[in-house]
Amino acid sequence: METLSNAEKSEEASPSSACPICKGAGFVHPLLPSGKPDYSRTVPCSCTLPEREKEHQSRLRKYSGLEAKLLKNMTFDNFDWKRGNLTQKQRYSLKYAFDAALDFAKSPENWLVFQGVNGCGKTHLAAAIANYRLKAGELVKFVVVPDFLDHLRSSFSPESAVSYDRLFEEVKNAPLLILDDLGKQSTTPWAQEKLYQIINHRYNHQLPTVVTTNCTTDEIDPPLSSRLVDPKISNFLTLLAPHYRTDATLSRKKTPPPEKAAKLNR
Ligand SMILES: [Zn+2]
Repeated sequence: METLSNAEKSEEASPSSACPICKGAGFVHPLLPSGKPDYSRTVPCSCTLPEREKEHQSRLRKYSGLEAKLLKNMTFDNFDWKRGNLTQKQRYSLKYAFDAALDFAKSPENWLVFQGVNGCGKTHLAAAIANYRLKAGELVKFVVVPDFLDHLRSSFSPESAVSYDRLFEEVKNAPLLILDDLGKQSTTPWAQEKLYQIINHRYNHQLPTVVTTNCTTDEIDPPLSSRLVDPKISNFLTLLAPHYRTDATLSRKKTPPPEKAAKLNR
């Protein structure tokens, strides 16, 4: 503690938060090469690191779109690929998808596409990837496609052009993008075109992207599906597992009430 001088004590600093280095000010004067304090500058004291780390995490989480409690709690640790009612083939398929998701989370590259019925576990794996990256302090954007397109349409008006542009650019250029529930969105040609622009941009620039869909490739618009299955960029995996549990799926239309969501956090 003799290596740092005490910053001026802030009037707001409560005695309980006082740290021996900055006395609760939160800032200290850095040292000059001579070893003397540089009173012309201040730097955050090390005691503020946990708080700053928390703020950083909360900013990342806010940006990510992963604030929903259900999604927030979907991790690799609580993904149940050994669940009881599966055939050996189904179990193998889930384990394979789990391993691919974990590898991707450790080092996101190119595209990972999960195709399977509602409740098979694909959203859980996609959210687990996102939560893994967030925990590592990395930027990730999680987007539920039908909701995103609704949002894009509603914000696309002369009065709110700025927020539309920002959202569109954020999604288009996110360092890691998760597009959940792509495929059957009922949408306008305009919104469809926006989605196509995003996918095409990320395809051309090989930006790390995870897609989940419950559609077969025949059911998806050819310009999109041809990219999703392109082996040059995309690892397309079909999850053979059936619906996990009727009440365990995340409804896209309405968010479950908090008490129900809490019960579902396995
Ligand atoms: Zn301090």
